[in-house]
Amino acid sequence: MGFFDYYFGAISFILGTVLGSFFNVVIYRMPLEKSIVTPPSSCPNCGHMITWYENIPILSWLFLRAKCSGCHAPISARYPIVEFLTGLFSLFLYAFYFHDILFTPTQEWWIFVPLAIQYVTLMLFVPIAVIDIEHFIIPNEFTIGGLVIGLAISFIPGGVTPQMAFAGAAIGAGILILFGKIGELILKKEAMGWGDIKMLGWFGAMFGPGVAVGSIFIGAFAGLAGSLIMLLLKKMKKGEYLPFGPYLCIGALLALIWGHEILGAYFGLVGINIADLPFL
Ligand SMILES: [Zn+2]
Repeated sequence: MGFFDYYFGAISFILGTVLGSFFNVVIYRMPLEKSIVTPPSSCPNCGHMITWYENIPILSWLFLRAKCSGCHAPISARYPIVEFLTGLFSLFLYAFYFHDILFTPTQEWWIFVPLAIQYVTLMLFVPIAVIDIEHFIIPNEFTIGGLVIGLAISFIPGGVTPQMAFAGAAIGAGILILFGKIGELILKKEAMGWGDIKMLGWFGAMFGPGVAVGSIFIGAFAGLAGSLIMLLLKKMKKGEYLPFGPYLCIGALLALIWGHEILGAYFGLVGINIADLPFL
């Protein structure tokens, strides 16, 4: 651990809390189809405009003692918690994914363009998970927007190639459509949301087919484990709708960072060596 590890680590955490502050707005406004840019944030109780120094992630909530400075109405702890957790998530991404890439010498400067977009994509897992859990939707602005951007940046040399991006989008969305059709035949009702399908197309375009496939397999296991825990805790009833989006995000994250180890073990169980699979 050198100086720059701490330096970039601290920057990652702070950048994450700033994004978390923005995600608080996105999580609240996007499902209501409101603009995420205007108007600026104000107190829902008295309309007091939030000043810049009342908008500093985590710290403002602490020095305002969780109260609006205009009317003293309480400000939910949810805001600083989302900011803190988003900061931690950003630090995690830096430590386990971006660190090694950033410190690899002999790179052209333009590799930072797809890297920055990959970072934003991964950070968006936070609002996607929260919005899907609360509203059962994954906004098209993320999924279709991300798919288009992912395909476009694949033409920047050094990262995911165009072949991988297009194959990734087709394989990711294709497998989920197939699973959805099979599920429909068994359950006699819609089994896979189009939001999930579009999102997997986006992940495939952004990270390539390996991560798309890994996201589905790891996400399915995580979803199964999550549902069993929820059933045991009686937080969920049998046959209740399961938001799959957060699990697909967890799957994509694990596939990106530890994909080869996890997929290798997974396919190894049925005697397949992943080195033989052409698309991984
Ligand atoms: Zn107020």
